[in-house]
Amino acid sequence: MQYDASLAGLSRWRIGGPADAVVTPRTRRELVETVAYLRSRDVRHVVIGDGSNLLFDDAGFRGVVVRTGQALDGFEIVGGGVVRAGAGLWVPCFVRNVIDNALSGAVHAIGIPGRLGGLVVMNGGSQRRGIGDNVVSVDVLDHDGVERRIPRDALDFSYRASRLQTSGAVVLAAEFAFEPGDRTAMQQEAIAILRSRRAKFPRVRQNCGSVFVSDPALYAMIGPPGLAIERAGLKGLRRGGAQISPDHANFIVNNGDALSADVLALIAIARDRVAALTGIRMLAEVRHLDPFGGLRPAHEVCGSADAASQEPDNHERLVRNS
Ligand SMILES: Cc1cc2nc3c(=O)[nH]c(=O)nc-3n(C[C@H](O)[C@H](O)[C@H](O)COP(=O)(O)OP(=O)(O)OC[C@H]3O[C@@H](n4cnc5c(N)ncnc54)[C@H](O)[C@@H]3O)c2cc1C
Repeated sequence: MQYDASLAGLSRWRIGGPADAVVTPRTRRELVETVAYLRSRDVRHVVIGDGSNLLFDDAGFRGVVVRTGQALDGFEIVGGGVVRAGAGLWVPCFVRNVIDNALSGAVHAIGIPGRLGGLVVMNGGSQRRGIGDNVVSVDVLDHDGVERRIPRDALDFSYRASRLQTSGAVVLAAEFAFEPGDRTAMQQEAIAILRSRRAKFPRVRQNCGSVFVSDPALYAMIGPPGLAIERAGLKGLRRGGAQISPDHANFIVNNGDALSADVLALIAIARDRVAALTGIRMLAEVRHLDPFGGLRPAHEVCGSADAASQEPDNHERLVRNS
């Protein structure tokens, strides 16, 4: 247990003030007992994976952050194309294990930097796929302290969303069903996906991947969110230490000293300007943790850029990248 620990080191954005404490359990039992203890004492807490889809607040978090990881990193072939894996398993390792067992359906997730629990909660994926398509059931420590196996039908998977985002349950493990596949062909596909991601996505500056989820109406009108943000003239826009990536406009990068307020301001600006252009208000995939445990999509906390730009101090900090 680390007290008064910086959250910046736990987020891919390297942003965030201190948490009262951070704990990284070493076994599944330790994790379950830790969460049960915190619940029994009514201690505010949040369970996270690798922080690759999380914006921590500049004011930090008045509670305990519990990290999955080695506590839940198992991988087991059940048979008949069914695989069981722990919520702390690193996603690219999970995908490689699935491929090594000549099972197909997970390759799209090869380049996603996060833990399997986070991937399931976020219904993450790429190439317009989500891991929820392959989920059979999810083992959780439920909000009432009971361990349950929840079938896929009860999880309401939709594009980058699932019921697990609001249920308060801790994901411990999940079962997935895959089809038989050609190992060599899948390995080649994985390499091609990784190459294409390396070419498209910013690599030098810290970021949390795509900020906004794709919207079908926006897609039909212009394309993915990155293209819409670019068409709105915002590629490269800076706010404090944060910047809409000059490489890919659906990414916001930390140029070194970004604050969560800077990122939220850019999210607000992008939403407002794309709405002015298209009539569609984009929704954020990235989730913001407030100091008192509120965990919600970042657009729900960022307000309107037009209001923010009325403040002289904020306005001065809007500088276009030349
Ligand atoms: C460079 C980069 C590229 C990315 N590319 C993609 C992509 O192509 N596709 C994609 O979908 N995503 C992408 N992401 C986003 C991110 O990697 C995924 O959403 C990832 O699966 C999140 O996993 P995590 O362990 O980091 O979750 P975190 O960010 O730690 O958490 C995300 C949410 O899940 C909750 N959570 C995490 N673990 C648990 C658990 N065990 N029990 C209950 N709740 C839990 C957290 O509380 C939080 O609400 C990218 C991110 C980066 C930085």
